[in-house]
Amino acid sequence: MEKYSIDPSSFDFLKAENFLRKTIKAIDGRLLPVSTVFCVGQNYVKHIEELKSINVGKPLIFIKPPTSIIEIGQDIQYPSFSSQVHHEVEIAIYIGKGGKNIEPVDIPEHIGGFAIALDLTCRDIQSEAKKNQGPWAISKGFDGSSPISPIYPFSFVKNDITKLNQMHFYLKKNNDTVQNGDGSLMIFPITTLISYISKHFTLEVGDIILTGTPEGVGPIEKGDTLSFGGDDVEEVSFVVR
Ligand code: ZN
Repeated sequence: MEKYSIDPSSFDFLKAENFLRKTIKAIDGRLLPVSTVFCVGQNYVKHIEELKSINVGKPLIFIKPPTSIIEIGQDIQYPSFSSQVHHEVEIAIYIGKGGKNIEPVDIPEHIGGFAIALDLTCRDIQSEAKKNQGPWAISKGFDGSSPISPIYPFSFVKNDITKLNQMHFYLKKNNDTVQNGDGSLMIFPITTLISYISKHFTLEVGDIILTGTPEGVGPIEKGDTLSFGGDDVEEVSFVVR
């Protein structure tokens, strides 16, 4: 058999700019790296009820790629392969220090910041996946499926994990409030979630954790404006195209 001939130009893509990571803006304009987006499903009782799901007694974790993140100034592109995209508004945690097997008591030092984000979901594709016991990757991780506010430094709330766990947040669709969240109603609070995730995955700087949506999820349409914010998080808006 003939051997592969190694053409030195084959690896021309190995240029420094191809190694720059995706970034996201902090509230002061600084650019922060973005790694994996970890999401938590079914973390609020009333949302479990509205989807007629069952509480399995432990956090339901799935991941989305960095390309799911979009920030203010970008539009939500309605995916061509779905006809039922739902909004889910959630508290987002930005990991500022990586780690593995992090104990709940040590969680605060790993939190670099927080934000409010959407976990857009192709509900039609997700329902089919649930029925066939297939993965949620396409229904959850498509391009632009995680619109997010700028990241606020955790010190802004004086490292107060309690305040973060009790954050109020909301989503307006075309100026009507469609979701109202209260972090204190999370089944698994932020410390438990991060500790649990870090037992299964090594967390890295730039990982973002979406902590689950409260009830009130519903469809979005092209032309809608989605605005969301929360305690200490100024409202941001995205248009669906
Ligand atoms: Zn979600």
